[in-house]
Amino acid sequence: MSTIAHKLQAVATAIQAASKACGRDPAAVQLLAVSKTFPAAQVLEAIAAGQHAFGENYLQEALDKIADIKAAVPAEPVEWHFIGPIQSNKTRPIAASFDWVHTVERLKVAQRLSEQRPAGMAPLNVCIQVNISGEASKSGVAPGELPELARQVALLPNLTLRGLMAIPEPEIDAARQRAAFARLRALADALRAGGLELDTLSMGMSADMAAAIAEGATIVRVGSAIFGLRNHD
Ligand SMILES: *Cc1c(COP(=O)(O)O)cnc(C)c1O
Repeated sequence: MSTIAHKLQAVATAIQAASKACGRDPAAVQLLAVSKTFPAAQVLEAIAAGQHAFGENYLQEALDKIADIKAAVPAEPVEWHFIGPIQSNKTRPIAASFDWVHTVERLKVAQRLSEQRPAGMAPLNVCIQVNISGEASKSGVAPGELPELARQVALLPNLTLRGLMAIPEPEIDAARQRAAFARLRALADALRAGGLELDTLSMGMSADMAAAIAEGATIVRVGSAIFGLRNHD
């Protein structure tokens, strides 16, 4: 087995353990392998080991990799998730090449993604990124502005609003990790109570995925635990 296959196996085991510990079905937690900065060859190793959903942050790098993977294994169903900051003048290639976008934080970007989703493709799955760490973080919509943004995004014809995403400030302490994820979960619950149908909480990375699973994560975004440490981001 390759190193990547071993690490995928270890992450799957960790997801199972964390799910079991809180009485959740491990099948309800999807592993998104974050392949940013790693070459197509390593993504192909992960695909060979059975992983089919990948997260990318940097648009040009991602587009090159998606093309390389498509050329190498045209018959494999690979799902691509955009999880990086979005510049509003770069929405067209995102709308055309990705299945999911986790980092919607402005209506203008959502409107462009919807307008630019090519005809004939399924609606683009999106999550709204929420700033649950206050001033410490620059990314994500403020919780107070979330309900109105969610309402507007849910109306866009070529998007499906699936849920919420957050990148909390790094915390070592497990209780503090959980408190941040619990805030995201509560925000999603409030939107559901208001009538939105959301099935996704995208939260948890290599260092805090157990806490995220305990608070209801349905997608964990894991990079370094699978591909190793990155030199740069
Ligand atoms: C890089 C990144 C990850 C993966 O982080 P690791 O600590 O390597 O697991 C997850 N989510 C987002 C948004 C990222 O940018």
